[in-house]
Amino acid sequence: MNDNLTLYCFSLDQQDYAVNTATMIASRISRESASYLRGDLGIPCDALSDKAKDELESLQFQKKNSEEKPVAQPLRGNDGKGKTSDEVGGDGRIACIAIFVTQQCNLRCRYCYGGGGEYGNPGVMDESTALTAVDWLLDRCGPVEGRISFFGGEPFLNFPLMKKVAAYAREQAEKRGVRIGFSANTNLTLLDQQKLDFIRDFDVMIIASFDGPKSLFDTLRPALDGNSSYDRAISMLPELIAERGKKVNARATLVPGSDPSQVQDAINDMGFQRSHMVRASRSPYAVIADRNEEEAFVENQLSYTRSTICRFLDALKDRDRAEINRLANSTGIPLPTRDVFLSGNRVFLGRRKYKCGIGRTYVAVSITGDIYPCHRFVGQEKYRISSIFDNGPLKRDYCVSPVDAVEACGKCWTRFMCGGGCLHEHAGETGDVRIPSLLLCDYEKRRNEMRIALWCSISRDDYKWLEGCGVVAADMCLLDFG
Ligand code: SF4
Ligand code: SF4
Repeated sequence: MNDNLTLYCFSLDQQDYAVNTATMIASRISRESASYLRGDLGIPCDALSDKAKDELESLQFQKKNSEEKPVAQPLRGNDGKGKTSDEVGGDGRIACIAIFVTQQCNLRCRYCYGGGGEYGNPGVMDESTALTAVDWLLDRCGPVEGRISFFGGEPFLNFPLMKKVAAYAREQAEKRGVRIGFSANTNLTLLDQQKLDFIRDFDVMIIASFDGPKSLFDTLRPALDGNSSYDRAISMLPELIAERGKKVNARATLVPGSDPSQVQDAINDMGFQRSHMVRASRSPYAVIADRNEEEAFVENQLSYTRSTICRFLDALKDRDRAEINRLANSTGIPLPTRDVFLSGNRVFLGRRKYKCGIGRTYVAVSITGDIYPCHRFVGQEKYRISSIFDNGPLKRDYCVSPVDAVEACGKCWTRFMCGGGCLHEHAGETGDVRIPSLLLCDYEKRRNEMRIALWCSISRDDYKWLEGCGVVAADMCLLDFG
């Protein structure tokens, strides 16, 4: 066995695990192997028991006689379809744009990274800019599919433009023989029957901001006119969910002091079938907590993840279909995919080089037609990449993976699970997209340890049963997953 093998070893709930940080194969290991890897035994590898030698050997090599897929799988981008990093973004293809049809909002959420949805420049997009943005995407989305995300501010404040954009995009996409999909990030307060018809007719995926029970919701998301934003948000929500089901995704923003279980209960009570929670991100417009509060916040989130994973494993053991479905569609439990399972008790953790498509397969277009690497950077001049009115190629800075380019990421054991993190979070914490935040890295590493422990606990039979329940790894939300 190669003594230079890079194995990362950790313990969770009195069980030891090791990860080969090059091949990203992980497994449970015995206490003896763990002690050896930590250097506690003071003996050479040859002096280990046969069982320990076998365990460590199996992390180094792929078993030759197995039917498993080769581990040297392509490095994944984040398109969820197994495209290699060279194919995804390296060819200049843009899969999705966020169109800021307005930079105005009727709410004033406390944590808004856009400063009241205005991003330093309140106004609305004009029709010519919007249609040029559609052409810009269709010129670059390649032969298969492009996606337009209606963004703001509150995009439904400019509903006439949304309708024009959707109709034009559909017509032009058809002429070119490509598919076009739509999503909208909305605060729900302006929904009415006309908008529901539009959502249905254009099959718009809804990402609905929903921060929990009424009192918390109204505190975090005050309306400009002083009325309850919660009451308005829920007025058409039952109809929306009844008609669109899993195409309505609740997105809750957590701030220090939010109780994730309470937020999740409110989301479930409202009938959402899918949801995800993200932490509020620092930005030039919103610094939501001091350092101590941030640390407590991270601990709180980790303990919530841990408790939901325990509930998930209990439900799996009891074959409790209803509970499994509820947990899987709501709490962001990192479910394995079929590719994960290798022979023995080993799992393959994937080799992802990017957290998201920022500046590579995904960009945001402001009301003025300026292009930013993602929606959260809109209005910050130093991050402006280009304009839809410039015909030149996009700067490709974001095609360089942090895993390759950032020293801390290159040395990090979990780099291929993390993909270098959210660049907006980094910029908010350290002032530089290429300098990871230590606090958030610690969170990511600990969360990934939990993920590995979970995957190592699930057998192929369990997985088959989960598939039978329709519970498989959740599609990632294109925007603001975190
Ligand atoms: S955890 Fe931090 S250092 Fe590690 S890959 Fe992610 S961003 Fe980079
Ligand atoms: S994960 Fe971060 S960098 Fe990526 S698109 Fe979302 S906010 Fe932007």
